[in-house]
This record gives sequence, C-alpha cells and structure tokens, in this order.
Amino acid sequence: MQYPHRLQVLHRLSILGLAILIFVVLRGGLEEQLTRAETGAIAPAPDFQKLQNILTQHNFQVHLKIPPRAGAYGLIQPKTKTIWIHPLTFRLGIARQTLIHEAVHAAQTCYSQGPLLPIGLDVPISKQARPHFLRYHQFRRHVEAEALTVQGLPNGVDYAIELLNEHC
Ligand SMILES: [Zn+2]
Repeated sequence: MQYPHRLQVLHRLSILGLAILIFVVLRGGLEEQLTRAETGAIAPAPDFQKLQNILTQHNFQVHLKIPPRAGAYGLIQPKTKTIWIHPLTFRLGIARQTLIHEAVHAAQTCYSQGPLLPIGLDVPISKQARPHFLRYHQFRRHVEAEALTVQGLPNGVDYAIELLNEHC
C-alpha cells in the first residue's frame, strides 16, 4: 500500500512542479514583453549595454524603469547605488546620453565616497551644457556641468567608463 501511495504523491508533486515551471516561463515571457513595450521599438545601443555592464560591475543597480521623481529621465540614489533610466528615453533616442549622465554622477559618488561632488574633470564645459546647468546653484552646478558635458562627448560612453574604473 505504501509504495503506490508514494508514487501517487510523487506524481502529484511532479505535476505541481511542472505547473510552477510553466507559470515561471510564461511570467518571464510576459515581463520581457512588457519591458520591450515600455522601452519602445528602439533597442539600446551596444555601448549602452557596455556602460550598463560596467556600472553593474561597480555594484550599481540600473533599473530601466520610471524614476521615483516626477519629470526625471534619469536618477541616481547614491546611498543605495541605484540608477533609474526612464523607458521613455529609448523612444526619445536619449537613453544612451541619459545613462552616461547618471554614470558620471555614479563616478562622482565614488570619488567623494558618498554625496555628489565634482571630480574636477579637465574637459571644457560644452556650450550646449551651459543653459541646462544654469538652473543649479554653486557646486551642484559643477556636478551637473560634468555630467552634461560628458553626455555630449562623442566618446561619452568610454569617458564615463574611464571615470568609473578610476574612481570606483
Ligand atoms: Zn544630473
């Protein structure tokens, strides 16, 4: 009597296991679909992935999700080493520069070992960056100026990676 009973239990467990597996696979597929729908038709540039990987290697979490601050395309929370990139930036074609911007901020937090502080980059502040950072005050201006300048460089991804590798 015991033997068939055990078999029955095993049989039931394997059905349960299969059901869970199917659920997980379906759910994974659904999440992937949602992410694709959120990020739009434009796939991230290869160097976006490269920079994202380097950030992960330096223990930053990069979420391709709506940042928890209204109106922000990108956001960094230095305390938790978390970066958000708004899915809309992919559709707008600014995902790469948004990630570079936040990566520079990440390097700034490594440099200061905490808050956002300017590293003192020896790149001239671009004219395009000026109107954007004038709304910030004092050293926050320099913090933003560095991020805005590097995001505008043609080699911005490599420059940001250099900063991360040097300071983190
Ligand atoms: Zn910024």
